[in-house]
Amino acid sequence: MAEAIGIDLGTTYSCIAYLKGQVPTIIPNQEGNDTTPSSVSFTSTGQMLVGLPSLRQAVTNPENTIYSIKRLIGKKFDSPEMARLRARFPFKMLPAPNGDILIEAGQQIYTPQEISAFILSYLRQSAESYLGTSVEEAVITVPAYFDDHQRQATKDAAAICGLKVLRIINEPTAASLAYGYDYKKNGLVAVYDLGGGTFDLSILEIQDGIFQVLSTNGDTFLGGDDFDNRLIDWMLEEFMKEHGIDLSQDRYALQRIKEAAEKAKRELSFTPETEINLPFIYSTDRGSFHIQKKISRSLLENLTFDLVENTLTICDQALKDANLEVSKIEEVILVGGQTRMPLVKRMVSEYFHQQPARQLNPDEIVALGAAIQASIIKGTKRDLVLLLDVIPFSLGIETENGGFQKIIDRNTTIPACKTMAFTTVENNQRRVRIHVLQGEGPRAKENKSLATFDLVGIDPAPAGVPQIDVTFEVNADGLLRVSAKDLGTGRQQKIEVKPSSGLLPEELQEIIERRSKEVKSTDEEGLL
Ligand code: AMP
Repeated sequence: MAEAIGIDLGTTYSCIAYLKGQVPTIIPNQEGNDTTPSSVSFTSTGQMLVGLPSLRQAVTNPENTIYSIKRLIGKKFDSPEMARLRARFPFKMLPAPNGDILIEAGQQIYTPQEISAFILSYLRQSAESYLGTSVEEAVITVPAYFDDHQRQATKDAAAICGLKVLRIINEPTAASLAYGYDYKKNGLVAVYDLGGGTFDLSILEIQDGIFQVLSTNGDTFLGGDDFDNRLIDWMLEEFMKEHGIDLSQDRYALQRIKEAAEKAKRELSFTPETEINLPFIYSTDRGSFHIQKKISRSLLENLTFDLVENTLTICDQALKDANLEVSKIEEVILVGGQTRMPLVKRMVSEYFHQQPARQLNPDEIVALGAAIQASIIKGTKRDLVLLLDVIPFSLGIETENGGFQKIIDRNTTIPACKTMAFTTVENNQRRVRIHVLQGEGPRAKENKSLATFDLVGIDPAPAGVPQIDVTFEVNADGLLRVSAKDLGTGRQQKIEVKPSSGLLPEELQEIIERRSKEVKSTDEEGLL
């Protein structure tokens, strides 16, 4: 029988799990590892490598090695966050016609959805060969603070590799599910999730199998990569001071420095001092230059202290939204590899006045929770578990003069539904435009545009007479759907949807067809 799995599609590492009997269990990948680097490379011989093999050749092939794709998915090329990040990535990015990001690698252009699909496909194959059965369906996790575009793009990535998404669930919620499942505890829990690229803080109440998210807050541009970047910047400055050479433009040197910085950061979680040794990092006619630097844990802590402080400001906001004092939190769960850093553990412990739960593996807990949710949906799990999640951002519409009217407030439990009546302002008006945005700012332009919905084909009538009920519905994946009904005729009102980002249905279909042809021709080549 086909198996449904849980997938934690992480910024730096991904992980898969399933329910073995009633026990959530990690599925090792094809190399036998429990986590897979979220990295994809295109080699000069036209081969695509995913996971560890990709990571291994990143230093010699930086332009064609794509990593941290989760930071780019659903983002605009010109957004301020991307302007900062673009310089950091050694691979080439281009703006798509709709302003999204495209990636050029291996002499081809890819959408972030396709790159994510390559990772998902590899994970799926790993699961199939380990379980010895086909895998058609999955629960995929995303940061709680992912917006509508990022969620939809993740779903599209799954569609590209032929996976049916049973549900998109939030990473902290998945973590709490795994925690609650194993330890059967009731009470108020804070999940502090600091991964490779994102930070989420969710506050949940667990009560006899009901997991109710009370509030969530976060930053999709704050994660382990930023800690690495601080160390990278420090090394570049030191090199500049010592040799007067700017290494930031040298892709090969930068890739080596990036890897060394990440490795040093990890080591400093376990030792008070480490050394970075990069011989022949740069050569000129003056000779060759090397990097040999001792780095102490306290230096790393000084360089990154403010990043951890930023996460605590987000904790303040989440507690405020849940109407709770910090003293009411009974358990703190740490999720994400970056929470292994002693500074993070220390500051989180001080903030919550308690030691975080220790028994859980921060790299695996999200995938385990996703596997539990997959089995709940498939009906293979015995105990009663109910997940009640929330939307991370308010949804609303643009009003006259560029204002923003909220329709569904952030932290509302999903699925959520709200209906508003619209009418015409001119005689015989045939079309009404609704611009839907997501965010908290009072002005439309401060928020993220999701789509415009045009109610079309309205029967001619004097201004103000047509009555059209528009329903905004956020489903359990956290995705918005809009429908409308003409109250005069009782008919479903036609809507033309123009999303502000992501793939149009026909574009998605075209990619799916192209990819399945490519897979077929690779299979046939393999048979020759
Ligand atoms: P995740 O997205 O949960 O896989 O988290 C990956 C992030 O955790 C990366 O930025 C890693 O560098 C970081 N990380 C993993 N192990 C450690 C460690 N021992 N100390 C500090 N950071 C770590």
